[in-house]
Amino acid sequence: KNEIQYIKELETRTQEFDLKNNKTNFFRDLPISNATLKGLQEASFIKLTEIQKDSIPVSLKGDDVLGAAKTGSGKTLAFLVPILEKLYRERWTEFDGLGALVISPTRELAMQIYEVLTKIGAHTTFSAGLVIGGKDVKFELERISRINILIGTPGRILQHMDQAVGLNTNNLQMLVLDEADRCLDMGFKKTLDAIVGNLPPSRQTLLFSATQSQSLADLARLSLTNYKTVGNSEAK
Ligand code: ADP
Ligand code: MG
Repeated sequence: KNEIQYIKELETRTQEFDLKNNKTNFFRDLPISNATLKGLQEASFIKLTEIQKDSIPVSLKGDDVLGAAKTGSGKTLAFLVPILEKLYRERWTEFDGLGALVISPTRELAMQIYEVLTKIGAHTTFSAGLVIGGKDVKFELERISRINILIGTPGRILQHMDQAVGLNTNNLQMLVLDEADRCLDMGFKKTLDAIVGNLPPSRQTLLFSATQSQSLADLARLSLTNYKTVGNSEAK
């Protein structure tokens, strides 16, 4: 079967997916590509968690998402699956540059996300990279230009954007702000505002947080457009 036809079918299934009567308990019932499904299954991800059930179908449809769910609820796959699917449907290649950017508050969390991505993305062709400091900016920069999915900490990502020949975000399709509440608690508000301000407005944005606050609402207003709130709004 030809790939363009297959992608069209996936898109039709996605748009027809009924969000109200969502009984999708298994990844295999989602409108996702065989490549992503295979990666998920090989990593033993078979059933969706609640936040994944609530958010993945919405994200696949292309809407911005504000996702609230406590730690350990499975937020990583809730954004990695939509990233892989978005780039797959766009038939993203190494020549298209940066397609998705994931911002995480700490190096440890960024590395965990990267590890999950290498597992579930094993059957895709996308390149992934980590920018978390610790190595010099130049060393990271040489590798960065061919990366499709970049995961990093706020300070380091902004540092790369501020380089003379910095990170090229012109083509960016998807921004993920993971643990946004924790980023704000750690004093990254200005850094996040600056990063978001540098990105093309046409992108899709997924913002995940375990808690709600005024500063989180401010960040949501700045970074999201016509977003849907999913998950537990009382998440603590
Ligand atoms: P959060 O980011 O919400 O704190 P994680 O994405 O780190 O949560 O997931 C928490 C744990 O749950 C991890 O060990 C992860 O491997 C596991 N997990 C996530 N989604 C699933 C799933 N659909 N099936 C089985 N285990 C899962
Ligand atoms: Mg997490």
